Amino acid sequence: MKFGIPRETRAGETRVAATPETVKKLAAKHEVCVEAGAGTASFNTDEAYAAAGARIVNHAEALAQDVVLKVWAPDADELGQMKAGAVLIGMLEPFNGDGLQKLAQANLTAFAMEAAPRISRAQSLDVLSSQANVAGYKAVLMGANAYGKLMPMLMTAAGTVKAARVVILGVGVAGLQAIATAKRLGAVVEASDVRPATKEQVESLGGKFIDVPFETDEERQIAEGVGGYARPMPEAWMKRQAAMVAERLKQADIAITTALIPGRPAPRLINAETVAQMKPGAVIVDMAAERGGNCELTEAGQTVVKHGVTIIGAVNIPASVPTDSSALYARNLLDFLKLVTDKDGAFHLNLEDEIVKACMVAHAGAVTRA
Ligand code: NAD
Repeated sequence: MKFGIPRETRAGETRVAATPETVKKLAAKHEVCVEAGAGTASFNTDEAYAAAGARIVNHAEALAQDVVLKVWAPDADELGQMKAGAVLIGMLEPFNGDGLQKLAQANLTAFAMEAAPRISRAQSLDVLSSQANVAGYKAVLMGANAYGKLMPMLMTAAGTVKAARVVILGVGVAGLQAIATAKRLGAVVEASDVRPATKEQVESLGGKFIDVPFETDEERQIAEGVGGYARPMPEAWMKRQAAMVAERLKQADIAITTALIPGRPAPRLINAETVAQMKPGAVIVDMAAERGGNCELTEAGQTVVKHGVTIIGAVNIPASVPTDSSALYARNLLDFLKLVTDKDGAFHLNLEDEIVKACMVAHAGAVTRA
């Protein structure tokens, strides 16, 4: 098969869907065409791709291959340059019905990596995890950078500096990495999540869990989520959580918010009154900014100061760590490819495989996502 790796065209995107490391593995069985400059922003040079066995081509040729590996879904212009019947693998936004329709109209067999189920076998191809891990780490550094004080406790000849208090809201992959990173920097960390299973995880990383009690069996059942994902919590629980979190935020120096619910706007965890009660100089890094924000005052893509609190509406944080986020993403795709190719490297659509089935969003002219 012939593989194409085009340069990403979305504004601000620095990642690339294949690295010289993964191209070398692909090139053992396939012809691989990498667009000139596709890896420049992630410090993967054309020379390194060529040395790994790729042919360096232009944008149109990279798109016109049997299998196209992308970070984001192709735009209309790019779709027009792809071959009917081609295979497309990337973060194709499985909840974007219009977008999927366009992939189907272009007659692609398309796989949205974000739709992989949360099962052990899918861990090595889980792009949400690999990118959230990078983002959780970087969010803490962004918070520390915008904060006018130090993170660790320091005992100096000029007196003692207190450790920063960091509150993490949402303890999935990004939140856990944020806890670990903040702890490594010496902060005192507290965290909250709806899923009861996260209490033990927070504590095992040395954080304190903000325990919002469940008052009904229904609340507890909803909180346990489905397939590792959270569901929207009842109003009453959200109110109790907001009150407890507000108390913790009054003392906090940095808050990192990561709470998401698949296919829905981000849950609102910090309202404007709570921000007004925070200490001047405190920082909120809202990792849910792209999905509406966990904080009422967040502006996506902007850093704003409200009531003396710096609120960073961070978008596409993985793109700010392009080399490692590309390396991990490219390995995720390579791992997924093993499920859709046979031992000779030919494309093989096995819909008995629950991962392949879950990821496939378009095939033979139709949207296939349930
Ligand atoms: P996510 O990005 O969808 O959400 C982030 C976090 O926000 C989640 O922990 C969620 O519970 C939390 N959240 C939602 N509403 C909230 C609210 N109102 N208040 C506080 N927190 C709220 O989640 P994710 O990082 O993708 O991971 C979700 C789970 O899936 C984790 O348990 C993770 O370990 C698991 N997982 C499993 C696999 C696998 O087995 N292949 C892979 C990745 C993740």
